[in-house]
Amino acid sequence: MKINRLRLLGFKSFVEPTELIIEKGLTGVVGPNGCGKSNLLEALRWAMGETSYKSMRGSNMEDVIFAGSQSRPQRNSAEVTLFIDNSNRTAPAEFNDSDDLEVTRRIEREAGSAYRVNGRDVRARDVRLLFEDASTGARSPALVGQGRVGEIVSAQPQERRRVLEDAAGIAGLHSRRHEAELR
Ligand code: ATP
Ligand code: MG
Repeated sequence: MKINRLRLLGFKSFVEPTELIIEKGLTGVVGPNGCGKSNLLEALRWAMGETSYKSMRGSNMEDVIFAGSQSRPQRNSAEVTLFIDNSNRTAPAEFNDSDDLEVTRRIEREAGSAYRVNGRDVRARDVRLLFEDASTGARSPALVGQGRVGEIVSAQPQERRRVLEDAAGIAGLHSRRHEAELR
């Protein structure tokens, strides 16, 4: 699985529909302070199911919706879609009937978040497992935020094991086992 493209609608500073194409190899995003570079990465994490509004630098999850500016009114919803190449057919069985996956998270004021995969309503859990199985996700050590490099270097053995398990793509298995144990 590979994320090819990111589409943002009304997410944080991206009030105009915006697409980021992720080509093969290394992609760099450059721009002046405050232009939205971190917002782009937050959009990626958010669409993968991030539940912590604090880690999105907000005081509640609705803060990801465009808040308005001097020249534009605020929006009432935000939406981020990840376009995924699944031609190697490694997605979980329930999503593995297509070479292309579109994973969308949408939030509306006072209505909360909803997720869709290829237009079909799914649960947050399904999206979380989809990305955990692909060795990534909103909380995955595959996404190294500012200031986290040192944290990983000096991590305790158990935390370091989590990094390795995540890289091996078995985080989703752990989540499923944990759910089964709670039942
Ligand atoms: P730096 O180089 O300083 O790290 P950056 O390119 O990472 O900057 P971001 O932190 O992504 O910049 O963007 C911050 C901008 O996003 C600020 O101008 C802030 O006002 C704007 N912003 C954040 N949330 C919203 C929102 N809900 N509505 C409108 N604008 C927002
Ligand atoms: Mg930044």
